[in-house]
Amino acid sequence: MLQLRGITKRYGERLVLDDVSFEVRPGRLTGFVGGNGAGKTTTMRIVLGLLSDNGGQTTLDGAPLTAEDRRSFGYMPEERGLYPKMKVLEHIVYLARLHGFTKETATSKASDLLEQLGLQERFGDTVESLSLGNQQRAQIAAALVHDPQILILDEPFSGLDPLAVETVVGVLQERASAGAAVLFSSHQLDVVERLCDDLVIIADGTVRAAGSREELRAAYSSNRYRLTGEADTGWLRHEPGVRVVEFDGGSAQFDVDDAATAQRVLRGALDRGAVSSFVPQQPSLAQIFTEVIQ
Ligand code: ADP
Repeated sequence: MLQLRGITKRYGERLVLDDVSFEVRPGRLTGFVGGNGAGKTTTMRIVLGLLSDNGGQTTLDGAPLTAEDRRSFGYMPEERGLYPKMKVLEHIVYLARLHGFTKETATSKASDLLEQLGLQERFGDTVESLSLGNQQRAQIAAALVHDPQILILDEPFSGLDPLAVETVVGVLQERASAGAAVLFSSHQLDVVERLCDDLVIIADGTVRAAGSREELRAAYSSNRYRLTGEADTGWLRHEPGVRVVEFDGGSAQFDVDDAATAQRVLRGALDRGAVSSFVPQQPSLAQIFTEVIQ
C-alpha cells in the first residue's frame, strides 16, 4: 500500500499542498479528483520524486519510498513525453528494455499491450503521426509495459473519445484485478464514478474527502428517498417534515427531516395502497464533490 502522510508544498509564499494524506491500496483503482489547480499534479510529482516537498512522507508498505521503488512505478505524466520520431512498437519495446526485459519479452509485452489498447494497426507509425487520442493510448502503454505494481496516471482519460475511454478503463481494471495499486487523476466525474473503488477529493491543496466509494456515499447521503406505489403520492406535499423534490403521480422523490419522518411516510404510504419500493437515494459523485469542495 502506498501511503501519503501530511505532504506539504509551497511555491514561494504560496501553500499549494497543505497536509495531504491518503492511501492507494493494491487491487483497487483510486480516483484523484479536483478542479484545475487543486494540486493533483503536484502531489503525483512529489510521490514520483520529481518534485521536492516541504514536509510529509510517502511510504510503501510502511517503509519510506526509495529511488528503486519509484523507478518501478508506472507513471503517465501530464506533459506527454514520448519521442515524436520513434515508431510506436519500437518505442514501447525500448521502454520495456530499460526496465530490464530481454528483447523477446519486451517485444511480446509491448505488442500485447498495444494490441489491447487498440493500436495494432499503428505499430510501425511514428508517434508524431498518430492522432492525439492514439498518442495518449501509446503513453498509457509506456506507463504499463513493465507490469508496475504501483501505477500513477495524470489525467489518463482527457482527450480520449468515449470508445477509447472504455478501452483504457478495461485495461486499468485488469491491472487492478491483478493486484496493482492504481492512482489516476481526473476532472471527469462521470468516468471516475464508474471506474474508481476509492476516491480522494482535493480542493485548494487540501484533501476534502477520502475513502471508498461506498463510504463516501454513506457519509454524504442526504435524507432523500424515492417512494413508488399504487396510490398517488401527491399527499407527500402536505406531510410535515417532508420536501418533495420530484413528483410523478405514483412515484416521488423527497427529503425528510429525520429517520422517524421516513418511517411515518412509509406507514402513510402503506395505509394508502401497496408500496412497490421505498428506497434511500444515494448521492452521485458529482453531488458529493460539489458539497465537499465548498
Ligand atoms: P492540478 O493538477 O490539480 O490542476 P497542480 O498541482 O498543477 O494542480 O497545481 C496546484 C497549484 O500549484 C496551482 O495553483 C498552480 O498554479 C501551482 N503551481 C504549479 N506549479 C507551479 C510552479 N512551478 N510554480 C508556482 N506555482 C505552481
